[in-house]
Amino acid sequence: MDISVIVPLYNEEESLPDLHAWIKRVMDENKFTYEIIFVNDGSTDKSWKVIEELASKNPEVHGIKFRRNYGKSPALFCGFDRAEGDVVITMDADLQDSPDEIPGLYKMIMEDDYDLVSGYKQNRKQGDPLSKTIPTKLFNATARAVSGIKNLHDFNCGLKAYKNEVVKNIEVYGEMHRYIPYLAKNAGFAKIGEKPVHHQARKYGKSKFMGWNRFVNGYLDLLSLWFISTFGLKPMHIFGFVGTLMFIIGFFSVVTVGGIKLYAIMNGTPHPLVTNSPYFYIALTMMILGTQLFLTGFLADMISRSSQERNNYQISKSI
Ligand code: UDP
Ligand code: MG
Repeated sequence: MDISVIVPLYNEEESLPDLHAWIKRVMDENKFTYEIIFVNDGSTDKSWKVIEELASKNPEVHGIKFRRNYGKSPALFCGFDRAEGDVVITMDADLQDSPDEIPGLYKMIMEDDYDLVSGYKQNRKQGDPLSKTIPTKLFNATARAVSGIKNLHDFNCGLKAYKNEVVKNIEVYGEMHRYIPYLAKNAGFAKIGEKPVHHQARKYGKSKFMGWNRFVNGYLDLLSLWFISTFGLKPMHIFGFVGTLMFIIGFFSVVTVGGIKLYAIMNGTPHPLVTNSPYFYIALTMMILGTQLFLTGFLADMISRSSQERNNYQISKSI
């Protein structure tokens, strides 16, 4: 099979028939063999009924129905698990992403040998509120810097194409759908490209991702992703390093406090209480923090040693 199209959706009943017809038209025109996997993420409207109807008339339509709303990442995860096409394409259900982009994306994966191609909403639809566009710019700049994937402008575009082996070897969880290119890179899929795509205003329903708080969570996710990809298999390297640093600062503070005291005693001059010196408090804090960080490092090492991930390496080929 050439292509699996995965569509995560939450309350998008109006869009689904149009979307299906559009995808079908593009696929037939290009003679692709394909499947469409609709992942209904706990919709409370009639989305699932619409999917059942589509599936009863079209053998290429498959559906997965979550019992409740888990989020876009879990929906993608389950879709990825089922995908059988050589190229896997994800797209939003709201008709904002254009199925006309499918042949171009397919070509980039199959002919130009990209592992992952992300859409780039260059002509972002007009009328997007500032609370969406400004944070999006900030978000992408940070994600570029942290992930080291310098050529992506739009990490969070719902329209993306992957080699099948990519989606089988990454684990999208929580709200990590924003960072799939980073997940892919960490799994060793380095050839990541971008394609400017058409983007339209939402026709039906409303956006499920609004407001500023998602960016706080987004940054926290990015931070933990960076941490795990850098130190996940060797946590002692970070905890031990910072712990040692603190311990050294603490040690020299102790020496300073003790030295001042000793010097005064030996010279018979009146000597102040050690607790009057700021070095005393620095020494105290740093020694305690340093010890704590070391112990945390040991614990983290023990946890990572017993985790199922510990010897989970990406092997692309073996003979
Ligand atoms: N979506 C989902 N689960 C959720 C929220 C959203 O499956 O909990 C789907 C949604 O139905 C759509 C896609 O994710 O197909 C992108 O959502 P949306 O269009 O609301 O985001 P925006 O385009 O406004 O960033
Ligand atoms: Mg949308």
